[in-house]
Amino acid sequence: LRCHDKMGIPICGSCHRPIEERIVTALGKNWHVEHFVCAKCEKPFLGHRHYEKKGLAYCETHYHQLFGNLCYVCN
Ligand SMILES: [Zn+2]
Ligand SMILES: [Zn+2]
Ligand SMILES: [Zn+2]
Repeated sequence: LRCHDKMGIPICGSCHRPIEERIVTALGKNWHVEHFVCAKCEKPFLGHRHYEKKGLAYCETHYHQLFGNLCYVCN
């Protein structure tokens, strides 16, 4: 990993491998697009909007479910 750091190649915060294609920068780390996932359902955002809370990322649905004021039952 160190040699990649020196070369300036970003390392994925999930799989810890170098990222050579599209990079997602979030939560102070870099991620493969397919490895940046919701902390609740673990679905990748794939460029869709994400919401951050306490160092974790959530999809819109789960962010509102966990922290928002949407009704859990009827959304
Ligand atoms: Zn990765
Ligand atoms: Zn989710
Ligand atoms: Zn309701």
